[in-house]
Amino acid sequence: MKDRDSWSVESWLVAGGRSTEPGAPLNTPMVPASAFVLGDQAEYSRDDGTPTWSALESLVGGLEAGQAVAFASGMAAISAVFQGLPAGARIVWPDDCYQGVTGLIEAGCRRGVWAAERIALGDTQAWVAAAETADLLWVESPSNPLLVVADLAAIGAADRKPGSILAVDNTLATPLNQRPLELGADLAIHSATKHIGGHSDLLCGIAVARDAHLIEELRAARELVGATPGTLETYLATRGARTLALRLERGQANAQALAERLERHPSVERVRYLGLAGHATHAIAQTQLDGFCTLISFDVAGGAARADAACRRSRLIRHATSFGGVESTMERRAAVPGQGHLPPGLVRLSVGVENVEELWADLDRALSA
Ligand SMILES: *Cc1c(COP(=O)(O)O)cnc(C)c1O
Repeated sequence: MKDRDSWSVESWLVAGGRSTEPGAPLNTPMVPASAFVLGDQAEYSRDDGTPTWSALESLVGGLEAGQAVAFASGMAAISAVFQGLPAGARIVWPDDCYQGVTGLIEAGCRRGVWAAERIALGDTQAWVAAAETADLLWVESPSNPLLVVADLAAIGAADRKPGSILAVDNTLATPLNQRPLELGADLAIHSATKHIGGHSDLLCGIAVARDAHLIEELRAARELVGATPGTLETYLATRGARTLALRLERGQANAQALAERLERHPSVERVRYLGLAGHATHAIAQTQLDGFCTLISFDVAGGAARADAACRRSRLIRHATSFGGVESTMERRAAVPGQGHLPPGLVRLSVGVENVEELWADLDRALSA
C-alpha cells in the first residue's frame, strides 16, 4: 500500500485502505470472522481485528497522519480514552459539548472516579492554564451545536502536566477540514457515524493517535471492554468515506448559501455558521479549518413552539437527529436531554447534498407557514 504522504487527502480517500496484491479484490471485502486458523498473527478478532476493520483504520489513519483504532461507536472510542485515565484524574471539558460526553463525565464524577471542570471553549487562557494540572483536556471543536472554534494551536502548545492527554473531538470538522494531531493534540476522535460513514446507516467510532503507547492503550481498551466495530459497519464506513471530499464540498456550498439566506429571513433571530463574517469565531475558523463545515444552528423567532412547528413542516429536510449524512436533517436541540444551555428555539440544521434551491424553498416554507 502506498504511503499517504505522497497523495492529497482527496486521492487518499479513494486509494487508501485497498490492497495492491495482484488478484486481490479492489475493495477489501467484509470478513465476518471471530477466529482465524492459528499459526499466523491473527487469532481472535476482538484482539487482533479483521481485514475489514484494518481497511478503515488505514484509510482514516492516513487522513490524520496517525494510527487509527476503530470502535463500535463514537462513544465507545471516547469511553476507551476515559478508561485509560488514572484514578482520581482531573478532566477539563467545554461548556458546549456532545451530550454523551457530558453524560459520561458527569456519571464518573458522581461515582468519584474523577473530578471535572467545564471551561468556555473560547476562553483560550483558561484552557492553557488548566493544561498544567489536568490529566485529560477534552476539546470539541468546532463545538456542537453552538459552533465555537477553540484555538487548538494555542492549547496544543500549552505546557501540560506530564502524561496528560489532549483529545480533540474532530467529528464535526472531519479530517479534511481540521487535523488536530498537527496542532499538538495527542488524539483525534471521530464519530464515524456522522460524516465518515456519511449515509446515516451505521454506528462506528475512530480514535487516531501517533504515540505508540497511546495506540496500544486504545487497542487494549477495545479488546478488554469488547468495544469492537462490526464487519458490516466498517465496510460501509470505508465505502462511505470514499466520497467524503465530494459530499463535504457540496454540503458546505449548500450550507453557506442557506446560512446567508437564513440571516435575512424574518422568522429567524440569529444564525450561527462558521462561514458567516459575523460569526463569533469566524476569524479563527478561517485559519484553523480548511472549510466551514455543514452544520448551521439558528434561533427561530417565537421560541420552542415555532421551532418545533418548522421542524415538523419541512419535507425535503427530514426531522431527525444526528448530522453528516447525504440527506439534510434538522431538529430543535434544546429538546435533547443534557442540552439545557441552548436557546429554546435553537434548530440545528445538517446540510446535505440536495439541490440548494429546493432546500431553501423547503426551509422558507417551513419557517414561514
Ligand atoms: C455523535 C457524536 C458522538 C458520539 O458518536 P456515536 O457514534 O453516536 O457514539 C461524539 N461526538 C460528537 C461530536 C458527535 O456528534
